[in-house]
Amino acid sequence: MKPPRIQPSSRLKDVKYEIRGPLAKRASELEKAGYEIIKLNIGNPGAFGFRAPETMRLAMIENLREADAYCYQKGIFPAREAVVMQQQTRGVVDVTADDVFMGNGVSELILFCLSALLEAGDEVLIPSPDYPLWTAATILHSGKAVHYPCHPEKDFIPDPEEIRSLITERTRAIVVINPNNPTGAVYPLETLKEIARIAEEHRLLVFSDEIYDQVTFDSAEHTPMATLVKKTLCATFGGLSKVYRACGFRVGWVSFSGEKGGAREYLQALELLASLRLCSNVPGQWAVQTALGGKQSIADLTRPGGRLWKTRQAILDAVAISPFLLTHAPMGAMYAFIGVRTDKLPHFNDQKFALELLERKHVLVAPGTSFNVPYHNYFRVTLLPDWETMREVFVRINELLMEQYHESPGAHQEAVSADHSTTGADHSHDHADHEQASPTEEPHGERQED
Ligand code: PLP
Repeated sequence: MKPPRIQPSSRLKDVKYEIRGPLAKRASELEKAGYEIIKLNIGNPGAFGFRAPETMRLAMIENLREADAYCYQKGIFPAREAVVMQQQTRGVVDVTADDVFMGNGVSELILFCLSALLEAGDEVLIPSPDYPLWTAATILHSGKAVHYPCHPEKDFIPDPEEIRSLITERTRAIVVINPNNPTGAVYPLETLKEIARIAEEHRLLVFSDEIYDQVTFDSAEHTPMATLVKKTLCATFGGLSKVYRACGFRVGWVSFSGEKGGAREYLQALELLASLRLCSNVPGQWAVQTALGGKQSIADLTRPGGRLWKTRQAILDAVAISPFLLTHAPMGAMYAFIGVRTDKLPHFNDQKFALELLERKHVLVAPGTSFNVPYHNYFRVTLLPDWETMREVFVRINELLMEQYHESPGAHQEAVSADHSTTGADHSHDHADHEQASPTEEPHGERQED
């Protein structure tokens, strides 16, 4: 007898999360076949040798005895209170521990917040490019993702008037991701103020994803949205995954500020969803108070000369001398969103390029279209490997682009001034103060050629 065919729900038909999709599966197959793949598709600090601060681990170990039982559905008090205090020091005074929910990562809370809000056909304004969970979670809950463009030529800073023009009577919420994944943009105060004003005028719920809040470079300054939104509800998302390099702890939070008067039922619905899953990971929550207080070690990684800063610099150097690439210096978060010049490679296709880069050069990047953009000439890399690995990655990227350039129909005959041997730029980086060894330290080591 034939086994019964188990069909997935049609609700999932349009739900996508390509960062872990077919390309990532192909990378695993190649790894199983013995190839060493440099995987730059996911911002997972632990996979690149970063560690969570030691004190966070100690805080968890010290409190493990307290972590056997389920806790309160919104999370343990010390963790929620630590979020309140962090908000207070940032100038957000109207948050109490009761307004904070701890979750199994920000991911779970994004799902809850949209699930509690949306009726079929309700619209959510989401940036394009976006962190694709926002679009996926909206669609999963029968909502409509309406993307507001963050144009490359405007350094990926959204235009508030363009956002306003997309509002309809079905619009319920606006998502802001700042610092932004995937673009690295950090939004200016004026832009945020205008978005806050639009949300207030149209009574939209503001979902401000600030998981990279302290990951900023050079002169960039992050402004918490909650300091600007007063007359409507503002949900601010943060967590341990990025700033504290603890993705595996699965700890995130959302705190509600602004106009809470009309939001009682919504917050109750959210509490119901939190109760249905009983509670979030308890041992991880015990690390929150320690993480949020005292020295913030992320600053050592993002300051000039820090590991993330050096890798970012390696990308900027490599792009500057590439005849094919464009980038906008990421001012925050852990990624660079890199453009390919269509005047040089008019037939460039991000998906095809990512597959060829994987198959031929053993580097895995995320194609730009994974982030809900309509154009096909961008890709994203994470800044997490050490700068030497990144330099090697860009040598391979430029090699492939050069090959594609020569292979492309009607390739220009004039020489493109790319000297492969110098594609990696002449770095004056200080090698001595590398904090962590990267598992991909020797990209040439076991590389096998096709
Ligand atoms: N929001 C953004 C913008 C992200 O980039 C990520 C993860 O990459 C998340 C949320 C999810 O984070 P978490 O590990 O807390 O679920």
